[in-house]
Amino acid sequence: MRRLRALLSILALGTFASVVSSLEPSMASPHRGYAPASLFAVKSAAAHSAPVVEAPAEEPVAAPPVEPVLAAVGDPMTAPTLELPVEEDPLERPALDAVADPAAELEEVRWSVDRRMRLDEMATNWGMWVDDLRELNPDLEDVEWVEAASSYVVYRRDPRRPTQSVGAPNRGHLLAGIPMPEGPHWRLREHRPRAFGSTTTIAALLEAMRAYGAADPEAPPLRIGEISRRSGGRIAPHVSHRSGRDVDIGYVMKVNPSENERFWRTADGKTIDAPRTWAFLEALIATGEVQQIFISAKLQPILAREAAKTRSPEEVALIFSAMSRDPNVHTIVKHESGHRDHMHVRFGCERGNLRCRAQSK
Ligand SMILES: [Zn+2]
Repeated sequence: MRRLRALLSILALGTFASVVSSLEPSMASPHRGYAPASLFAVKSAAAHSAPVVEAPAEEPVAAPPVEPVLAAVGDPMTAPTLELPVEEDPLERPALDAVADPAAELEEVRWSVDRRMRLDEMATNWGMWVDDLRELNPDLEDVEWVEAASSYVVYRRDPRRPTQSVGAPNRGHLLAGIPMPEGPHWRLREHRPRAFGSTTTIAALLEAMRAYGAADPEAPPLRIGEISRRSGGRIAPHVSHRSGRDVDIGYVMKVNPSENERFWRTADGKTIDAPRTWAFLEALIATGEVQQIFISAKLQPILAREAAKTRSPEEVALIFSAMSRDPNVHTIVKHESGHRDHMHVRFGCERGNLRCRAQSK
């Protein structure tokens, strides 16, 4: 029996090791994202690509009721588990979490309410129409009030209404935006009309935020600000954030704001938690889906010092514009004013999405 257990343990470890090694940066990995290929491994293309279909001109009539499926959104308890030997190194667990396929769980997304409120208030908070919520949740048909600690479907993939980012971040719009799921390692605001993104954006965000939380269970949750409206388009005061590919995220601070704080906090060398902010940046870049990250030039050297602990000066100069001597080199992180209190992450277009524009001309 002991030998059988040992054998099973070795098998489990073998699977685990191959999963881990597939995450290692590799010169040979196919390069698809915007990160320098030699710096970061890029994962398989299939997981993040969305079907690109022209949206039908007419909105189809109500979909037939679909069996409610519990989404595994952000709940580590429902994530697929792999049996590991008891004496596993807990530090190795994160890699398993990081390889979960976020795109697969974006079939359906649920959001929860933490207090009793009117259905129309919930719809307003979430940037949705009551009719849409009722279509997605047939049990809301004759309901005017929703109870605390309940959760509702806010998105279900519909092949007739595919999610698609259209145009450039500062000119385009979004079709059938996917709401950012809830999860233990990040925090959405209560007011969420601008928490919708493209498939690539949401899948890559989930991947990076899970990797951040799994690698450091003590890390405070990341704060997510605005992404896009469900149908994209202009949102004041932003120029971009129109096509579901831009996301505002707070820096990890040494003292983190309370759950309900609505505003960003200005970061500097004393207040920013540089190791954790860099760990999150690295997880973001490793998704291979990031086109650009805007961070104030005042903060970049602080984060670059963290990066330099594990990366060569050449690599660091390819990541941070403030550390690059050549202004013509494309760095992933660039300065833009107004980004001392939050970073702005722009994700690339989905593969095969010919209506998406990386930049406006
Ligand atoms: Zn922004």
